[in-house]
Order: sequence, then structure tokens, then C-alpha cells
Amino acid sequence: MPADTDLTKQNDELIRFTNVTKRFGDNTVLDDLCFSVRPGKHVTLIGPSGSGKTTILRLLMTLARPDSGTIDVNGGRLFPAGEKERREVRKKIGMVFQQFNLFPNMTVLRNITEAPVRVLGLSKDEAEERARELLDLVGLADRVDARPSQLSGGQQQRVAIARALAMRPQVLLLDEVTSALDPELVAGVLDVLRDIARSTDITMLCVTHEMNFARDISDDVLMFDAGKVIESGSPEKIFSEPEHERTREFLGAVL
Ligand code: ADP
Repeated sequence: MPADTDLTKQNDELIRFTNVTKRFGDNTVLDDLCFSVRPGKHVTLIGPSGSGKTTILRLLMTLARPDSGTIDVNGGRLFPAGEKERREVRKKIGMVFQQFNLFPNMTVLRNITEAPVRVLGLSKDEAEERARELLDLVGLADRVDARPSQLSGGQQQRVAIARALAMRPQVLLLDEVTSALDPELVAGVLDVLRDIARSTDITMLCVTHEMNFARDISDDVLMFDAGKVIESGSPEKIFSEPEHERTREFLGAVL
């Protein structure tokens, strides 16, 4: 058994932030932050704008680096670590962004097969077979040859979800994935994500303002304020009986 699997089992933690601090100039965005996520759990990060939620996802994607502290994923070290180790650990993580970020000049199929072929070394046939399965999962099996510009925002976001899953990540990061969509397209994307949460064992870390969705899919909710987790617990606890005054204020404003 590989050592990293052992370690995950021992610790029962897939993601661990330990004393992570991140600053932009004078702005301390994450302040000595500690939290962990167990394998297969769906965790939602909530809290006021600017409280550091997106920064956490960006650190996990190695799009930013912490000033201090350690970040571990599946028993491997993401920060601080050498470039090679970081790249290996990073492969286990996929992300869907607010703005779908599809390659505009490629078909839907090619958008999904590109990275598995280039990064994972899959054959074109293997990658296409997997892409078709995923397009089926997100309800777009008939749009393989379309270009992103021919799709609605909701469809583009579902392609972006399929593209992230094509890399077979252990962790899926979702950053306000419905915020850029017209209201009538939101439900379709959330339904796809509910389906994935139900039918796979993927670990999800989700930043969202869709509180009903958060309540449905979350095992745990983490409430952030000023770069710290100020309260955490089951959705029932956080949404129905929040302990912290800041949580009550925040939920009062968004619910
Ligand atoms: P949230 O997702 O909770 O809204 P963010 O993690 O996006 O919060 O941002 C936290 C703070 O970090 C904000 O004050 C934001 O302006 C700042 N910030 C984020 N990214 C950068 C950056 N690249 N340069 C400077 N400041 C940034």
C-alpha cells in the first residue's frame, strides 16, 4: 500500500491547513488558519466577502502561496514543498471557477480531453471515452462537437465540471460556480453537483452563496470571518442554531 494512503488512513484527513497565514501587503487575509477535511466529505465555506474563502481554494490550486504554515493533501505536502512534490500533490485537486474558463477555440470534447492526454498521458481514445461518460453525467452528451460560444453559461459551466472531473481528482474545489449565471440556469448546474456529491466519493470544498444548496450537500459548514474559522459544524447546526453573533448576522443578511 502506498505510504500516502497509509497516512490518510492514520490521520483520517485528506486536507490539512496548519497555522496558515497569507498576506497581501498589509492585508492579513488568512490568519494562522487551521482546519482539516476528511476524505469524501463535502465542506462548504461561508462568510462575508473578503473573509479569505477564495484564497483557500487558490492556495490548494497552487495559484498563490502562503506566507507561513503548512498545507497537506492526502499525506503529501503542498506547502512548503519542492516544485516536483507540489506538482504531484496538486494533481489530486480539480477546480471549477466562477467564470468557466473554457478554451474558446476548442470543441467541448477537446476541452475535456486536453489535460488528461497532456498531463496524465492517457491515449486519445481513452480520454474521449471518459469525456463522453462525463458529458453524459452532466447532461451534455449531445454537445460534444459544440464550441463554448455556442453554449449557454449553464452548459459551459457543466462542461467545466466535466473537465475538472476528467483529471480524476480526489478533491473538487468549487468557487461560486453559479454566481456568473443567469438565474434560470443556476438550478441545472446545482442539480449536476448534487448528483456528483451523491454518486461519487469525491471530496468537495465549496464556496457558495447558495445556502439551500449548501444545506443539501454539506457534511460540514465552516464559517469564516477575517481569515479565521469562527464556527463550524453540520449544516443543521450552523443554519438553524448558529452560536456566533457574526454567523447570525451573516446568515441574516444572505438567507
Ligand atoms: P472571499 O472569497 O471570502 O470573498 P478572498 O479570498 O477573495 O475572500 O479575498 C480576501 C482578501 O484578499 C480580500 O480583501 C481581497 O481583496 C484580498 N486579495 C485576494 N487576492 C488578492 C490579490 N491577488 N492581491 C491583493 N489582494 C488580494
